[in-house]
Amino acid sequence: MKTYDAIVIGGGPGGYPCAIRLGQLGQKVVCVEKDKPGGVCLNWGCIPSKALINAATQYERTKESAAIGIKVEGITLDPNAMQDWKESIVTRLNTGVRGLLKGAGADYLEGTAKVVAKDTVEVVTKSGEKETLKATKGIVIATGSSTVEIPSFKFDGKQIIGAKEAVSLRTVPKRLLVIGGGVIGLELGTVYQKLGSELYVAEALPNLLSTHDQDCVKIVERKLVKHGAKIFKKAMAKGWEKNADGSLKVTLDQEGKAVAIDVDVVLVAVGMRPNGKDLGLEALGVKVEKGFIPTDERGKTNVDGIYAIGDVSGPPLLAHKATKEGEVVAEVIAGHPAAKDWVAIPASTFTDPEISSAGITEDEAKQKGLKVIVGKFPFAALGKAMAMRETDGFVKVIADAESKLILGVHIVGPEASAMISEAALSLEMSAFIDDVMLTVHPHPTLGEAYMEAAANAVGAAIHIQNR
Ligand code: NAD
Repeated sequence: MKTYDAIVIGGGPGGYPCAIRLGQLGQKVVCVEKDKPGGVCLNWGCIPSKALINAATQYERTKESAAIGIKVEGITLDPNAMQDWKESIVTRLNTGVRGLLKGAGADYLEGTAKVVAKDTVEVVTKSGEKETLKATKGIVIATGSSTVEIPSFKFDGKQIIGAKEAVSLRTVPKRLLVIGGGVIGLELGTVYQKLGSELYVAEALPNLLSTHDQDCVKIVERKLVKHGAKIFKKAMAKGWEKNADGSLKVTLDQEGKAVAIDVDVVLVAVGMRPNGKDLGLEALGVKVEKGFIPTDERGKTNVDGIYAIGDVSGPPLLAHKATKEGEVVAEVIAGHPAAKDWVAIPASTFTDPEISSAGITEDEAKQKGLKVIVGKFPFAALGKAMAMRETDGFVKVIADAESKLILGVHIVGPEASAMISEAALSLEMSAFIDDVMLTVHPHPTLGEAYMEAAANAVGAAIHIQNR
């Protein structure tokens, strides 16, 4: 039996940074992972999807480049080469994670872990051997979440697929139906639309990306439809049958009306569920609610010495939230005064254009009865956006009406994911409208749109009429 200060179960964007930080803090730590280092995010989530989004965007831009005076003939797509390139990034990062763990002095063990006592973990290694590990200070559960399946659309890995298969397709489907107009559905739907698929989206709710600022979503939806997407809202996917030509006839129930559509591939993207069960935790008295493991602000569960981080500890299901929680818990285990005390967790959705948010939306402000002012600046009024030929979208800033404290920033437009970090810092540092509008932003840059939106909130934007 090996004894460690801490055992981290799961090597995703929560678990591996937690193990690295523990190592940096001089703790003896092991990270146990049953699949590959990097978890969903690195292996078939964030990273591969962003590689494909970039590739699909470059393909589309190359085809449209005549508009800016560059004529390219004979553009062809090689999905195999695209996949090989994407795989090479994943492999490089896998190796990188192992190297980082090693560099920090953390052990890495491949196998499936079960918590058998408050301080003991049993691991069945990939070669089938059983190892018992003891933790003197803490066990960290970082087991993430898994794709939700719809019973009538069981994955077959070819025509009915989840995100994992969708980032690995070596043929572009002629017609693709995405069930679920959420983050995964729209990000990957956009990839294949750009690569040439006819795109269909079935969303159960009245809105796409229902938790996002709906002004932002409208811009994305408009572009999807402009490029030919057929979007069915308030539509539940009911079932399918095979056509004579091998394609699928899918039936949707749209507000009581049956709608049939013929497609070649169905991507089911209706959410993720937390992996809090089957770890032996309930038997030890750890609270597990619908698969989620509730924790306090220090990442502690209701049982001393057992911690949880990332997707399994609750929403939002975001890699960077998992990483920060991992760092906090590492500090706590090492005896430092750390806690989850952030003001906002920014979120980015890599649609076209991108949507990024930090802080509250206008709707949430209304629901909370807050008196707010709102400033907005469109990218269509920004020289840099015109030069990039990316003028769709805007920056929206929400601030307290009296104090002018910034409460939320929502961006839909080019590089929204890069721009949101300035907004997240504003919220973290309790910035006021003046702080942002009086900060000199370099010209010509997309960042000016944030400064102008803040100025617009108090009627002082320079490059638009203030209302
Ligand atoms: P999601 O919750 O974003 O979207 C799922 C959508 O499916 C919802 O809009 C829901 O109403 C709809 N739906 C559910 N059942 C349905 C049915 N039977 N028929 C039609 N529609 C149905 O979930 P997701 O897109 O699967 O993503 C999973 C998680 O991963 C999310 O929490 C997301 O935040 C995270 N993620 C984040 C990023 C990012 O940050 N860029 C990227 C990918 C995934």
